[in-house]
Amino acid sequence: MKNKNKNNSLSCGCGHCNHAEHDICCKKNLTLREMFKYYGKDFLCIITSVILLVISEIISFSFVANFIIKLITASLCGFTIIYDMIKGFLNKQFLNENTLMVIAVITSFCINIYAEGVVIVILYSVGELFERIATDSSKRKIAGLAELKSSIVHIITKEGIIDIEPENVVVNSLIEIRKGEIVPIDSVLLCGIAEFDTKTITGESKIKVVEFGSSVISGYINIGDPIIVKTVKKYVDSTVEKIIDSVENSLENKAKTQKFISTFSKIYTPIVVALAFFISLVPPLFDEYNFVKWLYKALSFLVISCPCALVISVPLAFFVGIGSLAKKGILVKGGNYIEKISKINTIVFDKTGTITTGNYKISNIYTYNSFDTDEIINYVCALEEKSTHPIADLFKKIIPKTKYTIENVKEIVGMGLVGNINGKEVVVGNKKIANKYEVNIDQIKGIDDFHVVAVNGVLASAIFLEDELKENITTCIEKVEKQGVKNIYMLTGDNRNVSEKVAHNAGIKNVYSELSPVQKVDILKSIINKSKENVMFVGDGINDAPSIAMADVGVAMGDVGSEIAIDSADVVIMDDDILKISNVIKFSKKIKRTVMQNIIGSLLIKFAIMVLSIIIRVPIWLSNFSDVGVMLLAVCNSLKNRKVR
Ligand code: ADP
Ligand code: MG
Repeated sequence: MKNKNKNNSLSCGCGHCNHAEHDICCKKNLTLREMFKYYGKDFLCIITSVILLVISEIISFSFVANFIIKLITASLCGFTIIYDMIKGFLNKQFLNENTLMVIAVITSFCINIYAEGVVIVILYSVGELFERIATDSSKRKIAGLAELKSSIVHIITKEGIIDIEPENVVVNSLIEIRKGEIVPIDSVLLCGIAEFDTKTITGESKIKVVEFGSSVISGYINIGDPIIVKTVKKYVDSTVEKIIDSVENSLENKAKTQKFISTFSKIYTPIVVALAFFISLVPPLFDEYNFVKWLYKALSFLVISCPCALVISVPLAFFVGIGSLAKKGILVKGGNYIEKISKINTIVFDKTGTITTGNYKISNIYTYNSFDTDEIINYVCALEEKSTHPIADLFKKIIPKTKYTIENVKEIVGMGLVGNINGKEVVVGNKKIANKYEVNIDQIKGIDDFHVVAVNGVLASAIFLEDELKENITTCIEKVEKQGVKNIYMLTGDNRNVSEKVAHNAGIKNVYSELSPVQKVDILKSIINKSKENVMFVGDGINDAPSIAMADVGVAMGDVGSEIAIDSADVVIMDDDILKISNVIKFSKKIKRTVMQNIIGSLLIKFAIMVLSIIIRVPIWLSNFSDVGVMLLAVCNSLKNRKVR
């Protein structure tokens, strides 16, 4: 039974999964009838075996009849175990849990303890069935994410509205989204204003207001009147599909502990089989040649030694944890990252859009050399139209579409923009870009946190911009410090005064400012080299992809839909909530703790009973019961992280 779940991604043929049994992995809850459909056969086998066993024990059948009944009883549940064992053989895994069980049952039949043999099969099957139900249910819970996916899209055509499947919608299609419906594909809004609930993507019920021409992310739920949008991506490239993909693929990025467990069980299983042989053959030579007694002990030893508790519960713990985080709008791309996050001692934050909101406001505008404010704003808005920097968003709101002819716009990352507007060269940005284009800024006196606008090399304006700290940044910094993060840095391209003020207010002591993107990467590199433990980089994913890729754990947060963010980061936080950084650290530590509890707990109990089974005569059913018990305990322990609080 178990192997059915191994190496099985969540896929099921419903577009995001290739599981033959769709409901079992993609429905949030199963009805009693569906439960029966999927687990009924195994359940019936177990019940029938129990009844047959009881009958054969109460009524005294002849020796042959008893043997045949017990053999049938064992085969009822044992069929799947043998099937899985043969499948293991075909995969060159000769000694796995199934082989252990088959050896144990055959041996018990050989030494005439049929009832024990049957009990071994029944208990093992009960454990397996329970494990399957638990795993399927956690898969279903994660696949509940698939509910974000709409099954039908209302396409607007010349002939009217046609309903088609999301996979068949081409880019630039006009679609209608009615009240209560999920946005199926990443699009832009084509009507005035619309309101969405972002709960499905961010984990929190927040209302997002989107204006004409702005992007609408798939997964959002339209809570207002019907709206019309134009798709900008194909379904497979949309945010929802990326989220589902990333959780599914998380199974492949195995944590070190997980890899260790698979290697461990590959070595461990042959060793226990060899030990069992040894126990059955050597001690009897010194114990009046009582082979049956020692064979019994060897059997008991073999049954308790089964490593399934570890093999099953460790990956399950990571998987359940990753699924719960995804439901909260935190995508972690694998158990390996959960493990790395649990050992973080340094966090490096980007400033704009990460520590601050990135929602800039103009606090003052000064003009020079007879330029006028209106003209300046028009120039700046025209250039910023091409940029994705948070500063650009402010100007895009002021004038969304310029009336000027603009040419050769170039964004100089970490500095600003330059381009030709109506034949004039216009430069916008910080002091660095002013230096680069040799603009004389001596006229701007006093403060230095301004943005320069220059036209044909002549200073035209100084614009003062203000950005606010994110709401929970100080709480986040305090929390991560309490969680054992010793070093916190802020890296930014912004000027020194502003950056130091921001860092001070946020509670961050180490600041590096006025950095070019290359310098940011160099500093991050030296921080990583210096750090003995893992370094996390948190950015907004807009212009810090190299740093996100370089850190041990790269986190992208902020507006979803930034494709590079979802693609290049190890962790994606789907909204602006900076507190999710401390949440993900706390939860990763919890998952790691659960994994360690499972490993240490099950090994200790097993070793204790293994030793005991050599010293005294531990009944086989008790060994069996303990083995299944340990497995169930470990599985339940893994399942406890089904909710991120
Ligand atoms: P951060 O490190 O804070 O994310 P960036 O490296 O993106 O900042 O940018 C550094 C500085 O470069 C900004 O603070 C701003 O002064 C200037 N800058 C970058 N892009 C633009 C732009 N599109 N318009 C105006 N200024 C810009
Ligand atoms: Mg930034």
